[in-house]
Parts: sequence; C-alpha cells; structure tokens
Amino acid sequence: MRILIVEDEKPLTDAMTEILRQNHYQVDAVYHGSHGLEYARSNLYDLILLDIMLPGIDGLSVLKTLRKEHITTPVIILTAKSEVADIITGLDAGSDDYLAKPFSTGELLARIRALSRRSTSYNDEILSCGDLSFNKNTMELSCGADSLKLGLKESQLMELLLNNAGRIMPKDLLIEKIWGLDSNAEYNNIEVYISFLRQKMTFLGTRTQIRTIRGVGYQLEGKDA
Ligand code: CA
Repeated sequence: MRILIVEDEKPLTDAMTEILRQNHYQVDAVYHGSHGLEYARSNLYDLILLDIMLPGIDGLSVLKTLRKEHITTPVIILTAKSEVADIITGLDAGSDDYLAKPFSTGELLARIRALSRRSTSYNDEILSCGDLSFNKNTMELSCGADSLKLGLKESQLMELLLNNAGRIMPKDLLIEKIWGLDSNAEYNNIEVYISFLRQKMTFLGTRTQIRTIRGVGYQLEGKDA
C-alpha cells in the first residue's frame, strides 16, 4: 500500500513517515499544497493523508480539485482538534475520514487499516494472482479446472495474501488481521495455516507460490500456468 502525506509540519511528517515505513507502507511526503496536488494527480497512491493549512494551495482546495478530476483515492484529513468546521467541510469536499491532531500512532494506523478494508470491500468476489483464483463467497480456491474449498482461517489468510499479492506481508500483520490484536496467536499458528495453504496449492498444481521471507513474513508470488 502506497501512502502520500501532504503536511507542512516537518517533525510530524517525518514521524508519520517513519511509523508508516516501519509498518511496511510505502510513503512519499510533500510539504507544500501544490506539490501535494501534483503527486496525488499521479494516481499512484492508495491513500492520502492531507493537512488543511498548507502553504501554496490549502488542503481543502487540493481535495476539491482531485475529486473534480475524478481522482477517487481515499483521503484522510489532518486537522487540529478545535477545527470542527474543517472536518465537516472536509467530509463535504470528499474526504473519507479525518484525524484530529495530535493523534496517537495507534489511531493513525487504525484509521488507515479501516479505510483500506473499506476500499477493498467493494472488490469482486473473485480474487486472482497468476494461475490461482479464489472465490470469497464459496471459499473455493481454483487453478485451471481444479478447485477445493478452504477453511475459514485459510480463506482469510488467502484473501489477505491475494489482496496484497507481490507484497511482503509481515507475520505480525497477518496475525493481527486474522486473530485480532488481543489474541494469543503466535507465529506458529500462522506457519501452520501457511503450510495448509501450500499443501492445497500443491494439490491444485498451481505455479503461484507463497514465498517465505525469512524473519519477516510471506509473499504471494503469481505465476501463470
Ligand atoms: Ca499545516
């Protein structure tokens, strides 16, 4: 997931960049409204964190311009706690959420996750990568003419890997998404489910693989038949 930060308070921007990179997001940061607009127009981002008070063009004008140009990248407005009016105007202008400054790291990450869940929930029922496809409704994993049904946890894991195909998915993140933050699930839980999935993929004869990235996590690598 690629995130653009448009915020002129450099210490805040640097801190957010650092935190997001630690959490395996790709991050670009700009400090000027017009640069923000220019970067956002590239349509390369999955999410934009947008401050309101910016030099050059203010955040709300950036947002309105993007929406007018049919750039639908989800936007989280960053605003001071007192500026409730900004929040309302921001939502009217097409922002998807807001964060009141100062915010905690946990809050920032939670909002980003919530928004990325929402934006993938509109996706098709069929996810695919290389020669492998998965039907979210029937929980069937298929390759060519062969298919088999996955269990619930296997399905959740497969869906996460498919939604992030090609990206390295840290074990912590997979555990958090599947078992929740407060669970006692450990690394070997995820290893067990990965091995179930691999066995089923072998059975299906797919060339797509779940690669182990030593000390980090897993990566789904798509290959065509
Ligand atoms: Ca500012």
